Amino acid sequence: MAILIRNLFIFFLFTIILGGSYGFWNLEHTLRRVTYSEFRHCLANHDLESITFTGNKVIATHRDSDSYETTVPNAEKLISELQDRNIQIIFKKDRSEQIFQGIALIYLVLLLLTVIISLSKKRKIEEEENKFASNKLILPDDGQKPITFNDVAGIPEALEELQEIVNFLKNPEQYSQIGAVSPKGILLQGPPGTGKTLLARAIAGEAQVPFYSFSGSDFVEMFVGVGASRVRDIFKEAKSNSPCIIFIDEIDAVGGSRAGGATASGQDERSQTLNALLVEMDGFSTSDTIVVLAATNRPDILDMALSRPGRFDRQVNILPPDIKGRIKILQVHGAKVALSPDIDIDKIAHLVPGFTGAELANLVNEAALMAARDGKTLVELDDFEHARDRILMGVERKGRIMSYDDRKILAYHEAGHAIIAKTLPESDPIHKITIIPRGRALGQTQQLSVNDRSSYNYEYLKSRITILMGGRAAEEIAFQQRTTGAQGDIVQATEIATNMICKWGMSDIIGPQAMVVDDSGFLGGASQRLEMSDKTAELVDQEIKNLLESCNELALQILKEKFYLLKQLAIILLEVETIDDEEFEIIMACQFTDKIQAGIQETNQCMNCPAVETCIHSKQKKN
Ligand code: ADP
Ligand code: ZN
Repeated sequence: MAILIRNLFIFFLFTIILGGSYGFWNLEHTLRRVTYSEFRHCLANHDLESITFTGNKVIATHRDSDSYETTVPNAEKLISELQDRNIQIIFKKDRSEQIFQGIALIYLVLLLLTVIISLSKKRKIEEEENKFASNKLILPDDGQKPITFNDVAGIPEALEELQEIVNFLKNPEQYSQIGAVSPKGILLQGPPGTGKTLLARAIAGEAQVPFYSFSGSDFVEMFVGVGASRVRDIFKEAKSNSPCIIFIDEIDAVGGSRAGGATASGQDERSQTLNALLVEMDGFSTSDTIVVLAATNRPDILDMALSRPGRFDRQVNILPPDIKGRIKILQVHGAKVALSPDIDIDKIAHLVPGFTGAELANLVNEAALMAARDGKTLVELDDFEHARDRILMGVERKGRIMSYDDRKILAYHEAGHAIIAKTLPESDPIHKITIIPRGRALGQTQQLSVNDRSSYNYEYLKSRITILMGGRAAEEIAFQQRTTGAQGDIVQATEIATNMICKWGMSDIIGPQAMVVDDSGFLGGASQRLEMSDKTAELVDQEIKNLLESCNELALQILKEKFYLLKQLAIILLEVETIDDEEFEIIMACQFTDKIQAGIQETNQCMNCPAVETCIHSKQKKN
């Protein structure tokens, strides 16, 4: 209704302006008006040349002065009089009347249009609202089989982390009793198709609570101000249905950094919506058992305000599954189709490195379609192979599936980092090594900082740099080549080295003298050099270079010495894609590596080794 009124208002304003300007225009073209007596006077004096009638209005044209107009009481009588006097008589249709009629017609059409447009706009909003309302709510007892954690495979860490949320939704009293503040917002981060939506629904299913789901983009497509009021409506409704879950997919659509460059109005709408969301989340009372889950694949562009305490202060990372995860997911989805009993899921999982949960679900479905098309009753391995080829050829992979050669280089690179970390005394233990690409990073070697150090010594920092150099050193040793994959490592290493020399006084030559502006970043962060003489600058550069090079030398030396270990780790990594801390220790503990290197030991004697399960020697033997 508001829209109709607004449009009508605009319409009337327009009319007033139009009418006004018409009147003004008319004024300019108006002839001098005279009284009827004056006219009679001229008539009597035989001054007139012609008379133009338009209704009762008369324009008299003079022989020797300007025309003027007047209104006559009785046109008919005047006409006969004029005829007697031999004055030319002209009849004209009333032009202003004509114009008026035209305008009235246009006016009417415009009015009609305004009403129609307003009404249809209103209907569209209503439709959208209905669509919004109908899509958003899933009740626990809607007759469908609820989605539970059993439907979510391959991401056990995430499930473990979110189990607490389920407990909270089920027994909020247990939490409020001891004064624990409920977790309000959880951000699920990960590439598309990794199961974020599935996970959110599974939480609702496990806890048996209503599930409100929206997409950030739902709010953005709306008319200004609607998004914010929609958010308020949702929370109001959710509160009356508590305990419940609100799920916002693609939160980056509303919660993208406000500094980003969208159009001014779109930006405004987004930040209004975002503000409304934040206000609502801040305004939860302890009695509201509502958990807001949000999903994004662009955590990097999210507004900082979203991650403040009490908002989305918990983040759960969801990665594309590794080989073990892929097997589990294939098992979950494979159970929905008639698989041939002798099918080797393990083998299928190996065929599709880099596939996400959604892609695996699709793979199973495609394979089943292939089998059905061929008139089979069971889905077999070759159906999966065909389905995979079809999927890989059909969709643009955006380089996410790497070639075997690239994966091999990556495996050596990550193995290099890990082995150096293991070798150097002053370094954090390995937590996880993976060659599954994530975001811009190809692989990853994660280390755990043991006792949250608050200061770092020279040895530790040097180890850090050497570990960073380990990736490219491994590539160099194994393939005699350097790749762009080391870019991030080099940047980090250079930052640490620069800080050591320019900030922390760790160079004897430079001494305890600050050479850079202090910035907030502790170990990282590019620093601005202070003013210094050319000679000093040269010294500083030389010191940084020396430090980096000596670390690189050390990395090369270690990896050359342990080449067999490097190779073994890389091969296993290539095979299993992710290695956790335990597996890493087992591989590193291989008793035969040195002997094999020396040519003393044959790989077939590995069976007594404690690392037999994971060890590549036994794998080689098995194959
Ligand atoms: P996202 O929200 O991360 O983009 P979805 O949750 O929409 O991904 O996943 C789409 C579909 O892919 C799911 O409905 C499910 O069938 C399948 N899927 C994704 N991840 C998994 C998983 N971990 N386990 C089982 N199925 C999954
Ligand atoms: Zn690296």
